[in-house]
Amino acid sequence: MVQIIIGKEIAQTIKDEMRAEVAQLKELGKKCCLAVIQVGNDPASSVYVSNKKKACEYIGIESLSYELPEETTQEELLALIDKLNNEAGVHGILCQLPLPKHIHEKIILNRIAPEKDVDGFHPQNVGALVVGDFGFVSCTPAGIIELLKRSNVEIEGKHCVVIGRSNIVGKPMALLMLRENATVTICHSKTQNLKEICKQADILIVAVGRPLFVTSEFVKEGAVVIDVGIHRDENNKLCGDVDFMDVEPLVSAITPVPGGVGPMTICMLMKNCLEAMKYYS
Ligand code: NAD
Repeated sequence: MVQIIIGKEIAQTIKDEMRAEVAQLKELGKKCCLAVIQVGNDPASSVYVSNKKKACEYIGIESLSYELPEETTQEELLALIDKLNNEAGVHGILCQLPLPKHIHEKIILNRIAPEKDVDGFHPQNVGALVVGDFGFVSCTPAGIIELLKRSNVEIEGKHCVVIGRSNIVGKPMALLMLRENATVTICHSKTQNLKEICKQADILIVAVGRPLFVTSEFVKEGAVVIDVGIHRDENNKLCGDVDFMDVEPLVSAITPVPGGVGPMTICMLMKNCLEAMKYYS
């Protein structure tokens, strides 16, 4: 029987575990705090920021909110980050992307102190992942590892194919699967024979950013398929990068959209924030 991996339920379990831990830490006088910065009022960003604040509230993590106007200069934003970097009571700093065009994303993200970089985007944390040191890992791929482990999907020795090589999803995903002793292949927009390569995967992780891109022609019988994509179809319904209806009859396990990978991302952000407090304060 096909296992539908319900990220929503797994995320709830992890949030409840963290809530209990935060309550215990509070009794010891330890409080965890995340600073959330949003520049401008992009509607999608506002939804993400609001969901992050709600998750903080549920778990018992304090959230400090910085809603800055669109015209904020790069220098002003850097000054705020410097201030938060130096505040002992702030354990995590998150700068919601995308930033307005006049601000260089890389300069901003690289200014966040690596020990407060709960998004895992700072080159020091990315480097730590490459060499196998402790560091914060990008939340979506970290969430996928949790999904696989908590669903008892064996990773060691399996052939994992990742479609996508973005810095936020594809690359860290491939590195994490390698850390879990999978044999990893990374595919991208210039890959030749994509379908044939994907058909060899025991675990296929799809972060291609194209609605319903992966069909049954890409999938080996019995494979595990993880769908990272989020899109709205022509009827305004959420869908993923994988054509779920077409692929599901073939697989041994699959994540749905919505309710699969998505809920794990914020969950891992909270986990990183808690770890920032435990390891660095
Ligand atoms: P991206 O656009 O940065 O990267 C897409 C990758 O797909 C690129 O590396 C590109 O080389 C590859 N690609 C594009 N066309 C291809 C093709 N025809 N064949 C093979 N490879 C191809 O996207 P991203 O930021 O990595 O996100 C991917 C998807 O995941 C998007 O739908 C995004 O919305 C979603 N996403 C979801 C979450 C979540 O929390 N669930 C988080 C981040 C991203």
